[in-house]
Amino acid sequence: YNLAQPTISDSEYDALLRRLLLLEEQFPELKDLNSPTRRVGIKVNAAATVTHRVKMYSLDNTYSPDELSEWRDRVVKGLAGEAVEFVAELKIDGVSAALTYENGVFVLGATRGDGLTGEDVTHNLRTVRSVPLKLRKIGNKPFPRILEVRGEVYMNLKDFKELNDSRRETGDVLFANPRNATSGSLKLLDARLTARRHLQFFVHSFGVLEGGEEIRTQWEFLEKVKADGFRSNPESRLCKDFEDVMKFCQAWQEKRNTLSYEVDGVVVKVNDLRQQERLGATLKSPRWAVAYKFPARQATSKVLAIEVQVGRTGVLTPVARLEPVLCGGVTISSATLHNFDEIKRLGVNAGDRVLLERAGDVIPKIVKVVEQSRSTIAPFVVPKTCPACGGEIAKVKAGEVAYRCLNASCPKQMERGLIHFASRGAMDIEGMGEQAVTQLLAKGWIHDFADVYFLKQDQLLQLELFKEKKAGNLLKAIEKSKTRPLARLVYGLGINNIGQKAASVLARRFGTLDDLEKASPETIDAIPDMGEVMADSIARFFRQPTTKKLIGKLKKAGVNTVEPAARRGQALAGKKFVFTGELPGWTRDEAEALVTQRGGEVVSSVSKKTDFVVAGHEPGSKYAKALALGVKILKPEEFEDMIHE
Ligand code: ZN
Repeated sequence: YNLAQPTISDSEYDALLRRLLLLEEQFPELKDLNSPTRRVGIKVNAAATVTHRVKMYSLDNTYSPDELSEWRDRVVKGLAGEAVEFVAELKIDGVSAALTYENGVFVLGATRGDGLTGEDVTHNLRTVRSVPLKLRKIGNKPFPRILEVRGEVYMNLKDFKELNDSRRETGDVLFANPRNATSGSLKLLDARLTARRHLQFFVHSFGVLEGGEEIRTQWEFLEKVKADGFRSNPESRLCKDFEDVMKFCQAWQEKRNTLSYEVDGVVVKVNDLRQQERLGATLKSPRWAVAYKFPARQATSKVLAIEVQVGRTGVLTPVARLEPVLCGGVTISSATLHNFDEIKRLGVNAGDRVLLERAGDVIPKIVKVVEQSRSTIAPFVVPKTCPACGGEIAKVKAGEVAYRCLNASCPKQMERGLIHFASRGAMDIEGMGEQAVTQLLAKGWIHDFADVYFLKQDQLLQLELFKEKKAGNLLKAIEKSKTRPLARLVYGLGINNIGQKAASVLARRFGTLDDLEKASPETIDAIPDMGEVMADSIARFFRQPTTKKLIGKLKKAGVNTVEPAARRGQALAGKKFVFTGELPGWTRDEAEALVTQRGGEVVSSVSKKTDFVVAGHEPGSKYAKALALGVKILKPEEFEDMIHE
């Protein structure tokens, strides 16, 4: 931790520390003077230390709305039921620092350290542009004799990524997250190097104010420091009641990914400074403030094996099988390794402990190895042939990192391809999932997608777990899928580089599969949102003899190859949509694409100008706002109907 190279995730550290606290409460005789619970922050390990004029506390954490409510109850009780306002601020995942200004001039910057003494990082903080070296003069008002502001030094996600990218190139150890990178940057002895790290600073409170104008509330402070030339976080909110606090926490938990920096929760403070004083502090934390932590996005786990999967385009993707672990609110048991170079870069092997990260909907990834396995498991070897069919593999283009199985009739490619063809965003054949597809292929009845349309009831009845009703339903679903618009068919065909959006653009532009087939690469390249790579992929697809045969069979089966005129228009043009909560069967990106493809617009916050709020499972504060403003709310099934119309 002191070297900013932790071997477990923060949430695991927090959980262990909590457990230790409980144990120490239960068995006081076992308390150790050097227990980590006696420390607020990290040990100072640089020569120059600074004694804080006023102790820098750390905050107590809460992990659920219930725990947060319990804190509120303690506050209300502590104030004997007096009315209380709160300020909710995003908890920036950075490094706490205290900045001292004497008569308006920046003279000292220190980290929190153990709360009583910190490290002198003045020289490094001077390089941070959002740290004013002089306060702004307001009229004729004199500067406070001493002003010590406190806040968070942090690094933007973009700068963090660039820093790690360049460290990868030079073979330096990667930082696990922006906070570690910030901490490491603040400790550099050469401030010129710090300057290149583009650190940022948000003020959130003050420690000392001598000889300045009196400040009565936290909110007043946040407003005033802006006039002094500081940045305070623009998302902060004054909450008249606790409902607002809850809504703020919920809303930001949902949209934390939209920020350009990492936040790990919300800090809630009692607004009135006199009330703060009355509430006071425990040994470790103030009673008037608390942190509400979002579910952790990083966790550590053990790699059980590295497997190679074959995708529908034949690309080989290594995947790490993991000991199941909770991360970002869900249990994770595998993580993608992207390609074979990535394995080499991470130096990962079966048996290693790794740090994982999962942000939003994104597939979990391995950040780094934190502990190499001590046992001698054979290192991972790049396969020489396709693990599914034993066929030849090759890099598709020179310089490309991906390997691809070259066998056009590779069973695994057909399997993944058919599952995609039948998937919801494509031909939407209900009941044609992985289980049915694997069996149909094993029976040898399907050699291309069109064969699906020639399946008979008696064949389906031979499949495992298929009875009259299930077989009948699947046949009905197959029949129904013949009427899907062209865009879905084009997407379902699984042409390289042609996703849902591109398929929709092509279907609208050309109207029929025949016209798309005849289109020259130049014509396609010239369409906005399309490009040379896509145009090439389409040309290559239609050149294949197997494609010509496939299209002939699809037409013979009666599959629609035309984009309905209504869909070629922009049915949702000018309509503004807001999404909240989880939509069954769709990721947020997919749902948003469905709207934009139809000319609609997706906006992030609800206003009177919003036309529709699509509310999925556990909708956030946007739902309440839509109700309040009388904006039309759509259930997931109503949204689906609208899209299909
Ligand atoms: Zn293969």
